[in-house]
Amino acid sequence: MALASASLLSLAQSVSAPGSPDAHNADPRIAEVIKQVSADRIKQTIDKLVSFGNRSTTSPQDDQSIKAGKGVGAARDWIKSEFERYSKNCGGCLEVKTDAFTEQPGDRIKSPTEITNVYAVLRGSDPAQANRIVLVTGHYDSRNSDTFNGTDPAPGANDDGSGTAVSLECARVLSKYKFPATIIFLTVAGEEQGLNGSRHFAQMAKQQGWKLEAVLNNDIVGGDRNPRQDPTVVRVLSEGIPAAATEAEIRRVRMLGGESDSPSRELARYVAEVGRTYQTGVNPLLIFRLDRFLRGGDHYSFNQQRFAAVRFTEFSEDFNHQHQNVRTENGVEYGDLPKFVDFDYVAHVARLNAATLASLASAPAPPANVKILTKQLEKDTTLTWDPSTGATAYEVIWRSTSAPDWQYVQTVGSGTRATLQVSKDNEIFAVRALDSAGHRSLPVVPEPER
Ligand SMILES: [Zn+2]
Repeated sequence: MALASASLLSLAQSVSAPGSPDAHNADPRIAEVIKQVSADRIKQTIDKLVSFGNRSTTSPQDDQSIKAGKGVGAARDWIKSEFERYSKNCGGCLEVKTDAFTEQPGDRIKSPTEITNVYAVLRGSDPAQANRIVLVTGHYDSRNSDTFNGTDPAPGANDDGSGTAVSLECARVLSKYKFPATIIFLTVAGEEQGLNGSRHFAQMAKQQGWKLEAVLNNDIVGGDRNPRQDPTVVRVLSEGIPAAATEAEIRRVRMLGGESDSPSRELARYVAEVGRTYQTGVNPLLIFRLDRFLRGGDHYSFNQQRFAAVRFTEFSEDFNHQHQNVRTENGVEYGDLPKFVDFDYVAHVARLNAATLASLASAPAPPANVKILTKQLEKDTTLTWDPSTGATAYEVIWRSTSAPDWQYVQTVGSGTRATLQVSKDNEIFAVRALDSAGHRSLPVVPEPER
């Protein structure tokens, strides 16, 4: 097969100049979609969520509280009604669903408690690809200083009204369009009690055999207005060695240096590429770590079920504004209040999420069964893969073992095999699928074929 000469990834060049758009790869429709994200709408959503007073998973969810507009039950019903409203505006294009279950008592739940995840499904328009799913999520539960307090104010404007608003705003905007693959807009509860909602949802996805290709978890994306904040940056955190890796997989990682190539890490790099391609107003800063130091979030529930999942979070958190009773002490204001949230920033993060979801749902399936041939020792590198639904071409991308992001790209026609005059000893390779419009799939790192 004739191969064009390898070229430096134009994207990789912009690694040193983050934010420089790569118009070459931009889809005008996606550029149009993300313009419709509204900071005002996001503000309305966050203010509404705060109005429920306390959205702790342990807060009341009886009929009377719901009628009074207080507690997690009222928040749940309102989120559902919002999804239904968006669906009405697109001729019923969204399937609005709940995933409800009873969590038994544990460390942070005293009595059996009903937890409800609320989600909307934008079914893929291509029957051959509608079983492929990408998902955005945030948690709608909140807490104050006391995990068990379900009555005193726990506004949760940033944690995680902001992430909930991102999921809702993505649903509002993307539901006006059709995409070949399916997009799910999820909001979960139970995060503050121990990731209970996301765990249940991820297990359901696993048990039902969902082809869930990417999970974008938004938690604390409010751009808290503190002096150390950088409103031009959103952190994107991803696990290194997968939580669900088998012993054999870990052995291979150790042998081949795959510590920085989990599916979640490739998803994070994809987000970085989207950030360079579209004008979202915010630059993804990849953090090569599961979550912030010794802390966690809902993406981990998906990682545990072998799904690629990353966390978006603001650059600099203010701990006076998280998990705190609303109060003033010695002139310092505590509490997770809307006045500390930068709604323009949340809108930028929503644009980055929407562009990532739209790019993934427009792209062909990632190539399956990607292999690097190793039957004999040779200086060249030969890769093979199975054809992807929707693909018209493929790209082999690679980077030096010490480089954080992809550096080189070689376009391969529609074939499913490529030989490169590059040593596999010194580089890390992956293959991705393209459609005729240039939408790119997630890249897949090959397994050795002996
Ligand atoms: Zn949170």
